[in-house]
Amino acid sequence: MSETVDLPYTVQTVIEKKIWVPGKLFSIKTTRDPEYSFKSGQYARLGLALGLDEDDKTPPASDMTWRAFSMVNHPDDEYLEFFATMVADGLFSPSLYDLESGDTIYIDKTAFGFLTIDQFPQGGSLWLVSTGTGLSAFLPMLNDEKTWQLFDNVILCHGTRFIEEFAYTDLIEQVKERYGERFSYLPISTREAHKNYPQKRFTELIVSGELAELAGHPMDPEIARFMLCGNPGMTTEARKLLGELGFKSGRRGNLGNLAVEKYW
Ligand SMILES: Cc1cc2nc3c(=O)[nH]c(=O)nc-3n(C[C@H](O)[C@H](O)[C@H](O)COP(=O)(O)OP(=O)(O)OC[C@H]3O[C@@H](n4cnc5c(N)ncnc54)[C@H](O)[C@@H]3O)c2cc1C
Repeated sequence: MSETVDLPYTVQTVIEKKIWVPGKLFSIKTTRDPEYSFKSGQYARLGLALGLDEDDKTPPASDMTWRAFSMVNHPDDEYLEFFATMVADGLFSPSLYDLESGDTIYIDKTAFGFLTIDQFPQGGSLWLVSTGTGLSAFLPMLNDEKTWQLFDNVILCHGTRFIEEFAYTDLIEQVKERYGERFSYLPISTREAHKNYPQKRFTELIVSGELAELAGHPMDPEIARFMLCGNPGMTTEARKLLGELGFKSGRRGNLGNLAVEKYW
């Protein structure tokens, strides 16, 4: 848009909102600037003009409120989509939840983040371990051909408190249909019993060896690559446990087999 040439953001429009769990989990689809580019796993900075003059359609970025949100759609889609939690006493997410089709949202022109598959050596099993909306960062990878060209198997682990919070299961089922045995999906709820899966935290399942058993793939640092995304309690503890098993983040141009993104 010409009026945003000198601004660090573009002005976009909400085109769809989906509520997964009322008052809690939702997705927002927006228009996308044709110049905006990102890799699967990266995040956008979304801006809202909270408390600013409604007549000013392009307020200074420094006056707006910004938060990071991972893209859930494929990098080539014409739109952007985000999967979000409404934090009841949060500054930003309740207003994001209230947006409707046609409302304005600001999007930083740059995509950010290093939770991308090019951080890892080729081959082996890609483990994608998420809690809550941490699932977001992994969804574009599932639909990205590059993921399946680089890795032999993909294991998607999604931890929630309750079963109703397992979002995007239709998309996940399509991935299963497409890639069959190469893809495993482990939905784990901690506060509600699931008929097929243990009611435990990922960290417990890593320690006991159950996660590897459920996936049918060993947690061997030679052939496994781990991404962790979501709640900092899980990412910090799981990073420590995986470190003890020999997993390491990449450093100074050396590829690692562990990559982590905390949402707060
Ligand atoms: C790299 C990155 C990517 C992110 N991607 C997403 C995303 O795809 N979807 C998403 O919902 N959020 C995501 N977040 C979190 C998001 O940026 C905001 O922090 C979140 O929306 C809360 O903002 P707020 O202003 O409402 O809450 P604040 O007033 O800033 O309160 C922050 C508190 O909210 C809680 N909180 C923050 N994020 C979450 C969350 N995702 N789930 C549960 N509780 C949370 C924590 O207790 C945190 O201390 C991401 C954060 C980072 C750093």
